[in-house]
Amino acid sequence: MSGIGRNLREIQARMEAACLKAGRVPSTVELVAVSKTFPAEAVREAADAGQVIFGESRQQEAAPKIGMLPGNLDWHFIGRVQTNKVRKILPLFGTIHAIDSLKLARYTGGVAADLGLFPKAFLQVNVGGEASKGGFEPDELEREIDDLLAVERVEIQGLMTIPPPGADGEASRRWFVQLRELRDAMERKTGVRLPSLSMGMSGDFEVAIEEGATHVRVGSAIFGGRAYRVDGELG
Ligand SMILES: *Cc1c(COP(=O)(O)O)cnc(C)c1O
Repeated sequence: MSGIGRNLREIQARMEAACLKAGRVPSTVELVAVSKTFPAEAVREAADAGQVIFGESRQQEAAPKIGMLPGNLDWHFIGRVQTNKVRKILPLFGTIHAIDSLKLARYTGGVAADLGLFPKAFLQVNVGGEASKGGFEPDELEREIDDLLAVERVEIQGLMTIPPPGADGEASRRWFVQLRELRDAMERKTGVRLPSLSMGMSGDFEVAIEEGATHVRVGSAIFGGRAYRVDGELG
């Protein structure tokens, strides 16, 4: 088995262990294998090892890669969405993880209608209130959630976050708890189920699973080191 296949097996085993520790059913947590910056061959190795869901954060980088790979893969767009890329993103990606404004949600819904698509989406929340990060402020989400859920042709699954960098995985726990509690509050306010939480990366996915993640976005622990960590962030 390839190095990537071995890494995937190890991540799956750690995800299962985190589920057991938290009393959760392992099949309720999806692994999004983040392949940004890695070539199509690396994705193919992962696909050959059974991985189906892949995450990319730049449309221009992803489009040629996706074209080279089998059509049964499930592509998730995890990066910041630029309005002028939506028309190119939607045909390639069934799920968008980082809807960060009502305006973008409405625009995406309009393009989806034009293209005859029903994308799934997560609303990104800037839990740490960092100036450098996109996402709704929690109180902004509270004000706009009804309008967001009313947007047609965008199936909002739940919330997503990228917590502030921390010393270790444990440092992310308070942000994951905050995202879950915000999700619970939005469900109570609207009466609409928001079943999914996209949170947790290579350094903190086990903590995220303990706190309720349904989608963990893991890149470097599967594919190796990269020049950039999350979209727009160096190091
Ligand atoms: C790059 C990226 C990841 C994966 O990060 P790793 O630390 O390599 O696991 C997850 N989420 C987003 C939004 C990213 O940009």
